[in-house]
Amino acid sequence: MITPQPLIDQFQRRISYLRLSVTDRCDLRCAYCMPERQTFLPRSEVLSLEELHQLALGFIARGVTKIRLTGGEPLVRRDMIELVRALGRQAGPKSGGGLEELTLTTNGTQLAAFAADLAAAGVRRVNVSLDTLDRARFAELTRRDSLPQVLEGLAAAKAAGVTVKINTVALKGVNEAELPDLIVWAHGQGFDLTLIEVMPLGEVETDRFDHYLPLDAVRQQLEQRFTLVPSAHRSGGPARYFDVAETGGRLGLITPLTNNFCADCNRVRVTATGQLYACLGGIEQVDLRAALRSDDPDAQLSAALDRAMAIKPERHHFAIRAPGAVPALPRHMSLTGG
Ligand code: SAM
Ligand code: SF4
Repeated sequence: MITPQPLIDQFQRRISYLRLSVTDRCDLRCAYCMPERQTFLPRSEVLSLEELHQLALGFIARGVTKIRLTGGEPLVRRDMIELVRALGRQAGPKSGGGLEELTLTTNGTQLAAFAADLAAAGVRRVNVSLDTLDRARFAELTRRDSLPQVLEGLAAAKAAGVTVKINTVALKGVNEAELPDLIVWAHGQGFDLTLIEVMPLGEVETDRFDHYLPLDAVRQQLEQRFTLVPSAHRSGGPARYFDVAETGGRLGLITPLTNNFCADCNRVRVTATGQLYACLGGIEQVDLRAALRSDDPDAQLSAALDRAMAIKPERHHFAIRAPGAVPALPRHMSLTGG
């Protein structure tokens, strides 16, 4: 086997983790993520299943060991499970394919239909985004009354033996008071839960400043009720973990605004049209679709990845400023995925 030439950026960080968006479309409309009337990419611009597969193999050939499929909502793309099956054959210790972990981030609405197939294709863990267990609040926040489907999806994932981590965006005046109950519920189900600070990405109708909750304040609140013991656990992403003594579960905190974690960054993101974003919080971009559609796709893709390493910035500079401030970046999180 040829040893892959690893992807190392200009700050000597080894890039081993790809977040690959398979669609920017979604069946929910979370108020902090996108406007009610979101304009989606024309389907003709989106990479085909074969192109997504080839692109992922190009990353694996350069030493990427973890791939997270994301979106938009990855499970609304009809041929998505085919990609999971194809990549699943590359994953796991026995495959010899170099991919150690294949996972996805989903809103869970379609999980009931797909959980068993995902498990059979080699997906061992999924992140499910869930901000509230209150049906009315869920319907208001996501603009769709889909909480029962999400809960059904979570049960199906559990039954299929897929490990679930819940991701919750902490929102002032929305789910703030519910966070302790969410943690108790998730841990009772055997799910880890990670809280995330809302980031200024893309125009939405609400003002994110109104709902921004710094997680250091949330942590202090939680410590009134729980004993949070710092944990050495790492999941290969930006979360920092605590063991919760009272529940026996794990709590993660992702703090893009209050606590910069860029020094350990090991990832890049690719949109469904093949645009590589070197940083979630930056504009540095490389067109991988052009490489894929060139005369020599493997070589061009590898060269494009080297260009990405040269432009990956040292850190992001997110800030939630005053009310009414324009978003720091014009693109929505549904384009680059989470
Ligand atoms: N639709 C899938 C889902 O919701 O899990 C995958 C894509 S979604 C963009 C990935 C994650 O980004 C979700 O956990 C969501 O809550 C989070 N997210 C979306 N917009 C965000 C924002 N502006 N700030 C922080 N997190 C955001
Ligand atoms: Fe869709 Fe996920 Fe964005 Fe919600 S956070 S609108 S589920 S892409």
